[in-house]
Amino acid sequence: MSLKNDIIFFVMDSVRYDQFEKARTPNINELAIEIQKSYSTSTWTLPSMHSIIRGIIPSIPKKTLFSEHVLYKTLPEKLKEYDYESYAYSANPVFIEKYFKGIFDKFWYDHTKTTVDSANRLIRQFSNDYNENGELKFAVMLFMETHHPYFGKPKSMPRTGEGRKEFQRDAITYLDEKLKEIYDIVKIGTELYVFSDHGELFNDEDIVFGHDPRVRKDGRPGAIGSMKLMEVFTVKIIKGG
Ligand SMILES: [Zn+2]
Repeated sequence: MSLKNDIIFFVMDSVRYDQFEKARTPNINELAIEIQKSYSTSTWTLPSMHSIIRGIIPSIPKKTLFSEHVLYKTLPEKLKEYDYESYAYSANPVFIEKYFKGIFDKFWYDHTKTTVDSANRLIRQFSNDYNENGELKFAVMLFMETHHPYFGKPKSMPRTGEGRKEFQRDAITYLDEKLKEIYDIVKIGTELYVFSDHGELFNDEDIVFGHDPRVRKDGRPGAIGSMKLMEVFTVKIIKGG
């Protein structure tokens, strides 16, 4: 990070690395200066986002993870030293101000509780706040289209395996288009980091579907025990002139 330009975290919820690799992402392919396989610190959103924002891993020190009294500087606090204003835009019901109290200068949560059109609402809000001549800006945007049930749809979605993976890959392609919309809004030099907060299991080679670690009502195990839940991706883009 140069710390002289705006920084955007564009987070696609629940996208594991092999799903990202197989999805059609023409904009990312064209714009990326770096694409990496990377690893999340957790299997679900809340601890993973805490790690990203606070720079700590969920198990150590556990006590401080969900507490307001944290020993370390958060990313927005650190960036404040370089005159960044920090913003969060979220469609995820656990990435909300209540759990990230006082960390961002502005926290905007999409209260509609549906993924239908939520990327557009996030982008509209981002665009309203974006001021070419204002302070340096650090924005974290968490998009839910890639989280099941993918666009809030369909009963027709296959319950398991490759068919359901295709639904998610379509959602990845959709968010790739939305990323280009953000790219077109921001200033030259802006650094965009595209990544996921954790992976997903698809009930094919994996025993269950989802990423909820809790034991199911019918006694089936929760989504744990697969590295696919931690294998994610990171893309770096710098807007050129
Ligand atoms: Zn998540």
